[in-house]
Formats: sequence, C-alpha cells, structure tokens
Amino acid sequence: MKAVQIVKPNDLRIIDMDKPTIDVKNNVLVKIKAAGICGSDVGIYHGTNAAATYPRVIGHEIVGVVEEVGDNAKKIKVGDRVIVDQVTACGTCYACRKGRPNVCEHLQVRGVHIDGGYREYMAVPESDVYVLPESLSYQDAIMIEPTTIAVQACSRAQLEFQDTVMIIGAGALGSSMLRIVALYSPRKVIVVDIDEPKLEAALQNGA
Ligand SMILES: [Zn+2]
Ligand SMILES: [Zn+2]
Repeated sequence: MKAVQIVKPNDLRIIDMDKPTIDVKNNVLVKIKAAGICGSDVGIYHGTNAAATYPRVIGHEIVGVVEEVGDNAKKIKVGDRVIVDQVTACGTCYACRKGRPNVCEHLQVRGVHIDGGYREYMAVPESDVYVLPESLSYQDAIMIEPTTIAVQACSRAQLEFQDTVMIIGAGALGSSMLRIVALYSPRKVIVVDIDEPKLEAALQNGA
C-alpha cells in the first residue's frame, strides 16, 4: 500500500509499505478515507516540530471505514465509518490512572511519535476508534479533532454566558475556538493575529 512519509526534514516521499494486519491488540483494520493537514504536519516536514521523530508517516486527523475486525472486537463492525484517536497511552501510569491519557508518561501521538494516517490502511485497537454519525462526511469529520481542542479549551477556561473572551491566534485552532466560543453567547470576543485576511475572516465569524 502507499503512504506519505517524511524521511527527514524537507524530504517527503510517497513510499510503498506493507499493508497492516489485525492482531489481538490492533483488532480493527481501517481503510483511510481522509486525513487532515495540520500546522504540525507542516512543522514535521520543515523539521521544526520538536516532538517528531523520523522517518515518519504523518497525519493525525484520521477518518476511514472499517474493513476487518478481530474476533475480540465487541462494538465495532465491518462497514462502520470511524475516526481514529491520535493519542495512544499506556493505560497504567499515574496520569492514565487519573483519567488523563492525553498527558500519559509514555504518550505516543499517531503521525508524530508513531506512524499516522497518511496511508491506505491502519490497524488500531477497537478502543481507539469512534463511530461517526451518518450525517457527517469524511471531510467534515476531519475537523472533529480541532473542534475537541476548542471544546476542551472553553471547558478548561470555565467559560460562561456573557463572558468577554480573547483568542490569541486565528489559525485552524483559533478559528475553531471562535466557532465554539460563540455557543456560549459571549459578551465580546477579541481575536488577535498579525495576518489581515485571518482577522477579516474572524470578523465575519463573530469576533
Ligand atoms: Zn493537528
Ligand atoms: Zn500512561
């Protein structure tokens, strides 16, 4: 199967790699339908992402359709449209035991520390996939990941009705945040950036 691999900074290649097979742990085979291009993918390409290791198949906003499941799969079925969790965690460290796998001591992010979604197939644990609603296209489902970041930021900030909010940066995440902040009916939203077209878009979206 084909994959997009950053061999080393500024060296991107379409490579051939073995199609993964399911096993007891990675018991769901996903045929990838779409993967987002994140700012951090561009950073990995340019060699400016401190977390990434090379060579690396990038892509961490990953959606697809389930093509095969193992005998031990309980909830996921062949044909399910799914999004793949980008975070893999050990499940046993202090952070994992406290329900915070996102800051696991042995955290590995797909597309950053281990191979990600710019390839035709991935075999992953059933617990790492979530079924997509029928109404959501694959392309739109890509935005689930940045949207969850925005939802988490608003929750951590304990945003409330009629708050005044300042969002620093109007890129993919800042603009996702602007859309989620709007759901709280804020009194005022201020968006800060150095890029005029992005500020113009922010104004049109309620800043
Ligand atoms: Zn991203
Ligand atoms: Zn852990």
